Amino acid sequence: MSTSGEPGERKDLRQFLDQLRRQAPDELLQTRRGVSPHFEISAILARLEASRRYPALYCPEVVGSPWPVVTNLLASRRRLALALDVAERDLNATYREREGRRLQPRLVGDGPVKEVRLRAEQVDLESFPILTHNDKDVAPYITAGAMVVRDPETGIRNLGIYRHQLMGPRKLGIHLSEASHSRLIFEKHVQRGQPMELAITVGHHPAFYLAAVSTVPFGVDEYEVAGGLLGYPLPVVKCETVNLEVPAEAEIVIEGVMPVDEREWEGPLGEVAGLYGKRLYSPVIHVTAVTMRERPIYQDIFSGHLEHQLVGSTTRLGTIYNLVRAACPTVQDVFMPPSGLCRFSCYVAIHKRREGEAKNAIMAAMAADPSIKYCVVVDDDVDIFDDEQVLRAINSRLHADRDAFVIRRAMGNPVDPTGDEERLVTKVGIDATKPLSGFPETIRVPGSDQIRLEEYF
Ligand code: MN
Repeated sequence: MSTSGEPGERKDLRQFLDQLRRQAPDELLQTRRGVSPHFEISAILARLEASRRYPALYCPEVVGSPWPVVTNLLASRRRLALALDVAERDLNATYREREGRRLQPRLVGDGPVKEVRLRAEQVDLESFPILTHNDKDVAPYITAGAMVVRDPETGIRNLGIYRHQLMGPRKLGIHLSEASHSRLIFEKHVQRGQPMELAITVGHHPAFYLAAVSTVPFGVDEYEVAGGLLGYPLPVVKCETVNLEVPAEAEIVIEGVMPVDEREWEGPLGEVAGLYGKRLYSPVIHVTAVTMRERPIYQDIFSGHLEHQLVGSTTRLGTIYNLVRAACPTVQDVFMPPSGLCRFSCYVAIHKRREGEAKNAIMAAMAADPSIKYCVVVDDDVDIFDDEQVLRAINSRLHADRDAFVIRRAMGNPVDPTGDEERLVTKVGIDATKPLSGFPETIRVPGSDQIRLEEYF
């Protein structure tokens, strides 16, 4: 098996798809007939989802497009772990460690993403296989677009995934959320009266996408995080029409500018909580060039569904873990389960040494991430990746009157449907750890580890 950091090693979308085919073929489904990007691909995913299956989906034949589509690639922790070349149980610890490594990108002269270069007037985004996902989505949306911009004050790059509405052959909408680093950088451009240059990467290795959604502080270049996660410096090439660099091994790059004074209605789109958001009056993007591979793979993220929820939460877990660890050094791991849309609930496992420690861990987790509404702390004999075990701990170990507490009118996630007009939400902390002494012993059947069922049946 490959190890990270070997010289000459290249990790990109194609290499990762090959890795799945070799190491985990059940993680990748391939369609055997033509499929439409207009609801049909997302309908296949929704159908699989109904039976709790979340494979990556590769569609070699897409109606109206000469290019294949891959979607749902980031919808499982097993695949994210494979992307970092580790076992699933080590995903969180590995991510935390590599996020901090930070390797500066390496500027190279050429790369596969430059195989085709289209000037603005040659670009027709309407011919791209951009998916329409949910019934009331206003238009096709690029959902796996990692947008890079540069801070005009410091020159430092910022990378993040934003939703991009198809508005015309050379025009895209965007939701630049208030809390995002790109919004802050756009506001600096507005103050200077200077249009913001940008480049959107579509299609790359999952480690690149994890870097794009990492929650590193403002002023940290996410390309350096990508290097840490990949295990070698991210090779980048200069853009054609904007003063930015993009990954040399990307599938497609869309270059453009965002004027400071132009706004249009954008949305609705099925969003992370599985609900439609409001229409927003937002800046627009004018495309100035596209560079891509000869026959690129168009990558999509299944907006509003598990893939969308999971990819954004995996990186947040690092931030939450680090803060909880400051409050409670025996924290084992933290998890935001899909049952809480990977945002609203957080489970924390600790090896409790003192009464009350769990409540401090809850306060730390809630301070680390405003999205968390329900935080449950359990002992380390409970598997926090299994909702049923956490519920069992609540049912068998909790005295709600003294072990649970309510926080009224706290800041929540902007997409939380329970938020009031000021977006304030009610939060609940639950200490479901057992008391340090006097709690009955857990039953065990001796010898079950040694039983080999094939010897009996
Ligand atoms: Mn950033």
